[in-house]
Amino acid sequence: MRLRLSGEVIKDDLVKRVEDLSGQNIAMCYQCGRCSAGCPVADEMDILPNEAIRLLQLGQIEEVLDSKTIWICASCLQCSSRCPRGVEFSSICDALRAIVLRRRITTPSVDAGDVSRVMRTDAPQMGVVGALRKLNG
Ligand code: SF4
Ligand code: SF4
Repeated sequence: MRLRLSGEVIKDDLVKRVEDLSGQNIAMCYQCGRCSAGCPVADEMDILPNEAIRLLQLGQIEEVLDSKTIWICASCLQCSSRCPRGVEFSSICDALRAIVLRRRITTPSVDAGDVSRVMRTDAPQMGVVGALRKLNG
């Protein structure tokens, strides 16, 4: 793979968004590979966890957003328990999945105003909110 790097590419705003959403500092990773070595589903991934983090460090977020890896991660936390730098890759995957899901939705498929008055008054509030989130991403 050929990468075209520049200061602007590396300081990608979307990567900063991933850090904000995940609460992780991507620069902390020093590529020891312990996360990938211990991941029970690494064989099914197209980009290993440490490779995904490296791509994010280099501003290559689209590669990671297009990967199977972010959907295959089972959030077992094995990688973060092995990480000497305290990086939680599953939280990074959560953030990346949220970005993909939000991109797919240009307009909400169900507007809160469409929920019937009966539903709004009788259904548990959490149920209504949960259904709207599921339908709208
Ligand atoms: S949290 Fe995800 S990436 Fe980390 S070890 Fe588990 S499955 Fe692998
Ligand atoms: S274990 Fe931590 S420091 Fe090592 S490659 Fe994975 S995320 Fe980076």
